[in-house]
Amino acid sequence: MGTNKPVVKYTKLFINNEFVDAASGKTFPTINPSTGTVITHVSEGDKADVDKAVAAAKKAFARNSPWRTMDASARAKLMHKFADLMERDIDYLASIETLDNGKTFADSKGDISASIECLRYYAGWCDKIHGQTIPADGGFFSMTRKEPVGVVGQIIPWNYPIMMTAWKWGPALAAGCTIVLKPAEQTPLSALCLAALTKEAGFPAGVINVVNGFGPTAGAAIAEHFDIRKVAFTGSTEIGHLIMQAAGRTNLKRVSLELGGKSPLIICEDADIKEAADIAHHALFDNHGQSCCAGSRTFVHAKVYDQFVKEAKELATKRKVGDPFSDGTDQGPQIDQDMYDKVMGLIASGKQEGATLVTGGKRVGNAGYFIEPTVFGNVTDEMKIAREEIFGPVQSIFKFNDIEEAIERANKTSYGLAAGIITKDIDKALAFAKAVDAGSIWINGYDLLTAHTPFGGFKMSGIGRELGEEGLHEYLEVKTITIRTNA
Ligand code: ADP
Repeated sequence: MGTNKPVVKYTKLFINNEFVDAASGKTFPTINPSTGTVITHVSEGDKADVDKAVAAAKKAFARNSPWRTMDASARAKLMHKFADLMERDIDYLASIETLDNGKTFADSKGDISASIECLRYYAGWCDKIHGQTIPADGGFFSMTRKEPVGVVGQIIPWNYPIMMTAWKWGPALAAGCTIVLKPAEQTPLSALCLAALTKEAGFPAGVINVVNGFGPTAGAAIAEHFDIRKVAFTGSTEIGHLIMQAAGRTNLKRVSLELGGKSPLIICEDADIKEAADIAHHALFDNHGQSCCAGSRTFVHAKVYDQFVKEAKELATKRKVGDPFSDGTDQGPQIDQDMYDKVMGLIASGKQEGATLVTGGKRVGNAGYFIEPTVFGNVTDEMKIAREEIFGPVQSIFKFNDIEEAIERANKTSYGLAAGIITKDIDKALAFAKAVDAGSIWINGYDLLTAHTPFGGFKMSGIGRELGEEGLHEYLEVKTITIRTNA
């Protein structure tokens, strides 16, 4: 069981296996979104601290360092040990996550279990990373080696602090890279706990570094750093542009981006409507709507539209909003005042532009950033709520008449992260899967994410993939070694 008063053990930066103050001595507050009050103050890193962390990571990556000379299978053992320690501390980690982020305690535990699976999956890759021998023309003997990219910078958002850390660390560690991670300023606490566990597991100093701080200072210093060979970013499309520009302006570091979405979920007329409504409900409301792949455009066939809206309303009305530490709570607060204001503003625009407010739309309580589960019907493609990422508990339901129309409208967005379809007709489902420009297509379910399968975006939802074998290759360089031989 979680506690809403976990002892916060770590508030400093984690550099070279030590917790240290920021060079400037500055700190910033982190807020409990359930109450709007300060939990604690955390060291505020900026460029000087990023420089220090990169220097440590560079040293840890140096030729003949313990990390570079370690057997690949020993690297796997360290990763499994780290995962074991996360299992040991799962209740504590989940309490910190729920305190800082506001997601329910059960959801925090779910995220941590998925994170552990991700780390174990990538631990399995450590000693299975190998190149090829190539029958090149000219009597050459050619082979390729897959080598770690080097020092990598990782910048993550606040919606899944622990899971985003695991998605970033898993492939980077398996590949043999060294890491400077910047958590989001809204949720700086849990990554520090994970960092402490990596030290306990026995990772050499400098392999993993965590620098908390703000985007334009610490984040930008990572994106611009000349000794960082790759930057992995998860966050908004707006900041994704800046990350890529910074890489282009500086050392052409490799860039992978996992950005926003406006993902469609299509409910066909042959679907079991009760089940479809439940899938669509979770597709949107899980994690309080704060998911990049949230099913934020629910397209329902005209023949089953009324029945679907009725079911969707019932599910949203039943959704229990409140203290994320209480058993039975489905939905805690939004992350902060800014996001609360943004979501309430979009709800107001939905009403104003003529969507039908089926349920919700109001604040819950007086403290914290709680919003009623909200459902809009009769949403049309031009409305702001149909186009902009809301990142809150607001389901938008659209009506369609045939699958070709649904496919065309599904693609009418600059995003392309995910899409779903609920139907008993496999041909229809596969035609949809082929036609929609999105990195993940889920059939008869949603958020069917596992560590084994790649995840990422088409179009403005991103570049590169996380998870699966593809995710590993983002952290590897290919070196060709060719021998001129007379043999
Ligand atoms: P969100 O909208 O989810 O808060 P952001 O893209 O604003 O997403 O933030 C995601 C991460 O990017 C956070 O860690 C944030 O501090 C960081 N960030 C914000 N601005 C910049 C920037 N200019 N350069 C680098 N990182 C940034």
